[in-house]
Amino acid sequence: MEERDKGGVDISVVVPLFNEAENIPELYRRLTSVLVGLKRGYEVIFINDGSTDNTQRVLEDIFRGDERVRVIELRTNFGKAPALSAGFDNVRGNIVLTIDGDLQDCPEDIPRFIEKIDEGFDIVSAWRVDRKEPFLTRRLPSCIANWCIARLSGLDLHDFGNAYKAYRAEVVKGIKLYGEHHRFIPALAKNFGVSVTEIKVKNEPRRHGQSKYGLGRIPKVFFDMLTLKFLLTYSTRPLHILGPIGSFFGVIGVFLGLRLAYLKIFYGEQLGTKVSLSVCVLCIFLAVQIITSGLLAELLVRIYYESQGKEIYTIRRILEHST
Ligand code: UDP
Ligand code: MG
Repeated sequence: MEERDKGGVDISVVVPLFNEAENIPELYRRLTSVLVGLKRGYEVIFINDGSTDNTQRVLEDIFRGDERVRVIELRTNFGKAPALSAGFDNVRGNIVLTIDGDLQDCPEDIPRFIEKIDEGFDIVSAWRVDRKEPFLTRRLPSCIANWCIARLSGLDLHDFGNAYKAYRAEVVKGIKLYGEHHRFIPALAKNFGVSVTEIKVKNEPRRHGQSKYGLGRIPKVFFDMLTLKFLLTYSTRPLHILGPIGSFFGVIGVFLGLRLAYLKIFYGEQLGTKVSLSVCVLCIFLAVQIITSGLLAELLVRIYYESQGKEIYTIRRILEHST
């Protein structure tokens, strides 16, 4: 593959690091030996996500001895998704590969990712076939999340949770990652017509240090999935979902109101004590609230896309004759 004029960088490896000092030397050694073996221009971008251990010192030592290494030090701990985002904003290569810094992913698998990108895929995702992690706290929740994300997004991957992935650079450029959204890049990208495949990889237990996540991640992932569903389906047309919900309550409210009016006029009933009066008022109130939120959301969508010059479509290529 031709190398473009970016200092000869073809492959950019992005590694988010939060307190991984003990893992970095071996990671660096194995990454380098694999990448040199590929015989293509590469860079390794280490993102120090506000580590409080020796991570920065270890990275600086490596940086001094290797001009293919870049280090981005964040001011504090922002989380893995923003750390990856910082990497994406600075990559120079045509292919971007993200890998965890804890040696759970084996750098030796990298050539297989690159092969798939060379075959023409835009995203290559890793599927950890033999995960070395506890079943109840890790594999089971992850299994449920994978199932849900696959259903929600219509993208049939086995393993969304792993950050070990390769991307054609234009896919990740400009992607801003909120919450735990790094796991949703393929799902979001698929929506824009990007081709996604997966390869099976080995997974090792963590050597040093501790996982930064526990069961506390579950509710976050749940709400992120809700956002994903919304982004995938209604992000350019929020009133299409909020409108019907608001109207539903509106119809019930109006129906109850008419019935109450009928009872009052023709039978002179006292309405003050009726439960249906409260329900009627509540429904109409809800309807107005929800529909107004929908209208506000429509405004927000326009601000979101137009203020950032974002398009609501993506073009793969334009063929045209020069004039
Ligand atoms: N990480 C990070 N910022 C954080 C938490 C984690 O950059 O706030 C990095 C961490 O150093 C590692 C990767 O993200 O390289 C995955 O983290 P971890 O191994 O703790 O997650 P798990 O494998 O348990 O999902
Ligand atoms: Mg890990």
